[in-house]
Amino acid sequence: MESRISRLVIESLFPRFCLGCHTEGTLWCLTCSTTWWPAPVRFDCPFCGKGSMSFVCDKCRDESFLDGLSVFAHYGNPVVREAIHQWKYIGDKTAQDILFRWLVRGAPALQPPFSNFVFAPIPLHIFKRRERGFDQAGILADWCGQIFNRPVFDLLIRTRQTKSQAQKSHEVRKLGELDGLFSINSQLAEFPDEVVLCDDVFTSGATMDSAARCLKEHGVKRVWGIVIAKGNM
Ligand SMILES: [Zn+2]
Ligand SMILES: [Zn+2]
Repeated sequence: MESRISRLVIESLFPRFCLGCHTEGTLWCLTCSTTWWPAPVRFDCPFCGKGSMSFVCDKCRDESFLDGLSVFAHYGNPVVREAIHQWKYIGDKTAQDILFRWLVRGAPALQPPFSNFVFAPIPLHIFKRRERGFDQAGILADWCGQIFNRPVFDLLIRTRQTKSQAQKSHEVRKLGELDGLFSINSQLAEFPDEVVLCDDVFTSGATMDSAARCLKEHGVKRVWGIVIAKGNM
């Protein structure tokens, strides 16, 4: 009750505007929650934009470890970008709920092309997780587990902090700057054959590919990815 009152006080001091239509009063109005839907994404190679069915194309396959990627929306979509920003950097629980509902509705198009997979988050570094208070990829992996009814495992540990991937290009991924960014969670005795990595945003793909590499070096055969948004920051 107390938190509801303090929320009402906060909302009256800082009025909220709908992410979709900017109407005052709530972050996501009833109209938008029933009518809004992001522009469809193209199902092509996540690295070069060619290929098909969201699989990494034959050319990019030579220099990458990820097998493909399912994407909910373009990061260029201002509504999607703002919802992610409100959740990730401001910790807004309403934004978190909105994102979860999007994923539930978008699930049919996000289904990975494997049958016996487990979900695993692309973890934050422990320092960043402490600073933020939560790990968005961990939450996403739990949501995916729930939506697709598959197990979720913390397979990876991030070994060092990196700068934002925002400005990083395909070249960086090729150069292997992020080699060794992840290590394996040593508490696990055995690794699954198929893993689907979860993260909020995919930009150059360097981080996710580094995670895929680590898993494949430990015997995982196929690695797919699921993200809310793909594009430049
Ligand atoms: Zn609205
Ligand atoms: Zn490609």
